[in-house]
Amino acid sequence: MKNRLINKKCILIYMLCLTVCVTVFCSCAFPQNGFNFNMDNSLSRSPLNIHFLDVGQGDSVFIELPDEKTMLIDSAESKFGEGIAHYTEDCGYQRIDYLVATHPHADHIGGMTYIVDNMQIGSVYMPRVQTNTKTYENLLDSIYENNLKINAVKAGYMISDTEEYKIEVLAPLDIDENNLNNCSAVIKLTYESKSFLFTGDAETEELNSIKGDVSCDVLKVGHHGSDTSVSEEFLQNSKPDYAVISVGKDNPYGHPDDSALKLLEQFGCRIYRTDTDKTIVISSDGYDISVKSGVRSIEEN
Ligand SMILES: [Zn+2]
Repeated sequence: MKNRLINKKCILIYMLCLTVCVTVFCSCAFPQNGFNFNMDNSLSRSPLNIHFLDVGQGDSVFIELPDEKTMLIDSAESKFGEGIAHYTEDCGYQRIDYLVATHPHADHIGGMTYIVDNMQIGSVYMPRVQTNTKTYENLLDSIYENNLKINAVKAGYMISDTEEYKIEVLAPLDIDENNLNNCSAVIKLTYESKSFLFTGDAETEELNSIKGDVSCDVLKVGHHGSDTSVSEEFLQNSKPDYAVISVGKDNPYGHPDDSALKLLEQFGCRIYRTDTDKTIVISSDGYDISVKSGVRSIEEN
């Protein structure tokens, strides 16, 4: 009788050990993709996670798409490139399938050279606009050295059109090299009933020229929330519920401007900003949206 009890005990302990070993092995051998490093289960299982990264005065948005592909829209100043790569790795990804430079200003493309040199890249997208800065030339060099080509985008270009989601370019319509902000690639991501608009540094002149459908649930506000980043006309057409402003604390430009904040409030937008909310993660199953703010900032190098 005693022996049988001991045997039962041994089997139980053996089973327990086996379960622990299998769990540990699986979690090491097959790291799960998805937003999971802050242990927030409500977010970790969303098919779509959009990370508005806190990169000081600059822009960078990392997107986990429902088919586990990834997109990176802009890469902030060069000192953030490595930190952005670490962040995406912590989310479980080594690869950026769709890499977008909205326009060639250093606070959007500075960190991209590191990304191109150190991550697997699917396709690169940029509007057909040139500038002669060292930052831009470095990026072009590293794109060509890595045997990638640039897909020139403008209004009407479709980056991806799957059964689940669609990524389309709504602007620019025309290129004005005297105003790089207003050459920004404006991108709309639609997933089931929800849509997300990413505007780079576009100002009202470009935003109001868009012929396509700008309606969205979430708006990444153009040009760091400057006084020309939103207008009544644009907000009437886009009607976002959430507005995200990517902006550095105590920046010398006075971004975001009070008038832009007031207008967004007037239109009933819930405003999130990276200077006060740090990295903001907006998740969706295509029907509901959840927001997590206060996620870790990107480290500088
Ligand atoms: Zn900018």
